[in-house]
Amino acid sequence: MTASFSNLSLAEPLARAVAEMGYESMTPIQAEAIPVVLTGKDVMGAAQTGTGKTAAFSLPLLQRLLKHENASTSPARHPVRALVLLPTRELAIQVAQQVKLYAKYTNLRSAVVFGGMDMKPQTLELKRGVEVLVATPGRLLDHIEAKNAVLNQVEYVVLDEADRMLDIGFLPDLQRILSFLPKQRTTLLFSATFSPEIKRLANSYLNDPVTIEVARSNEAASTVEQHFYSVNDDDKRRALHQIVRQRGLNQAFVFVNSKLGCARLARSLEREGLKTTALHGDKSQDERLKALESFKKGEVDLLVATDVAARGLDIKDVPAVFNFDVPFNAEDYIHRVGRTGRAGASGLAVTFVSGSDGRLMADLEKLLKKKIELEAIEYEEDKPRGRINDGRRAWREAGELGDPRDALDVAPPPEQAPRPQREFRAPAASRDPFFDQPYQAPASDAAPAWEAGARPSTRISANIKPNKRKVAALFKPE
Ligand code: AMP
Repeated sequence: MTASFSNLSLAEPLARAVAEMGYESMTPIQAEAIPVVLTGKDVMGAAQTGTGKTAAFSLPLLQRLLKHENASTSPARHPVRALVLLPTRELAIQVAQQVKLYAKYTNLRSAVVFGGMDMKPQTLELKRGVEVLVATPGRLLDHIEAKNAVLNQVEYVVLDEADRMLDIGFLPDLQRILSFLPKQRTTLLFSATFSPEIKRLANSYLNDPVTIEVARSNEAASTVEQHFYSVNDDDKRRALHQIVRQRGLNQAFVFVNSKLGCARLARSLEREGLKTTALHGDKSQDERLKALESFKKGEVDLLVATDVAARGLDIKDVPAVFNFDVPFNAEDYIHRVGRTGRAGASGLAVTFVSGSDGRLMADLEKLLKKKIELEAIEYEEDKPRGRINDGRRAWREAGELGDPRDALDVAPPPEQAPRPQREFRAPAASRDPFFDQPYQAPASDAAPAWEAGARPSTRISANIKPNKRKVAALFKPE
């Protein structure tokens, strides 16, 4: 049964805004959360990005704030009544945009504040008075300290992407912000996953919350086709090219674990002819917004991003997500994969697993509560010549046309035969210890390898089995 917005008795200005958005029915999180938030109870919601959770909390909050609605120009008549906290600037902008759309036929004002930008325009907006303030924690504290934001009349606070806020280390900032708020208030906490830390946060700040879990929290959307390929580090780029070509992908997100890796990979892919942009925390706010815009407009094919920079971005219809690196935090897999297959569309999620990812893969299996099948990629240049085309001819033609690396379907000349393998590259016949040894968990209280600066264990879960599925090759090696 699909729940309709008309069952909610939303006030006319809100119902009109929703109708204008073209939403036909409520998403599951909306159907569950909106009626609860309308009662004023605290909520602990598990929902992935892309599930419509912004409307799930903003619509009922706006409805409850309508009693304060007024057309006065006096700032005093527009104190902050609802505070929405988010971990990243991009996400804050996105949520603020949505809140503005839902509130457009009301006199309720909203604003967004985030770091990396001049405080002055934000200050002016705050001084004019806003009922709904969307913010990232650090910048909000700056405004509180500068007395630009007064929060003593806040009735609702939303901690969105709470797990991410904790990951980023925002807990002390959150605690400080919450200390400025009235004790009598409604608190809504949304998180893709309910880790023990999130539960602790909820226990400290939520009052007898209603728990809403629309899908199992640690589960990627079922509409996403997920593949895990065994690829050694040096081959990841050509594997990426090959899959992009083979699948005819026009756009994709490519996730990496480090800012440096992000910038490097984006540069390499750009050199190799893919229109690519990078999104990471070292980019200026302006650059990040530009990168995002150009991807949204379809001016670039690939958006290479780190987890922090990409968290929660509302970019719909991304046909594919590549995990160029297996995420350090298994929960980030859910967030990354959440970029594709949104709102019921089908999507593709490809993860490249190298020989050193055993520990991370074991974490992921634990989170997903399932065995992960590792597939092999067979590269065209590794196949006997002439099977798909005349590799020698193609190579010569490519060489005559320019940089042979730009050519497709070409086999290397004899002197450029495939590199010796330094790491495992799958096939079933392998007797590589990578598959033969069972995964051994590290001592439970040991620091994760990446934190200790060590390479993660080279062992991989005994559950991870290679299979012989082959992917046609369309890309030539460097
Ligand atoms: P969110 O999870 O809040 O980031 O929302 C993801 C996207 O889904 C946004 O672009 C919303 O505009 C869209 N959306 C939210 N609710 C609905 C709905 N009931 N029907 C269709 N799309 C929706």
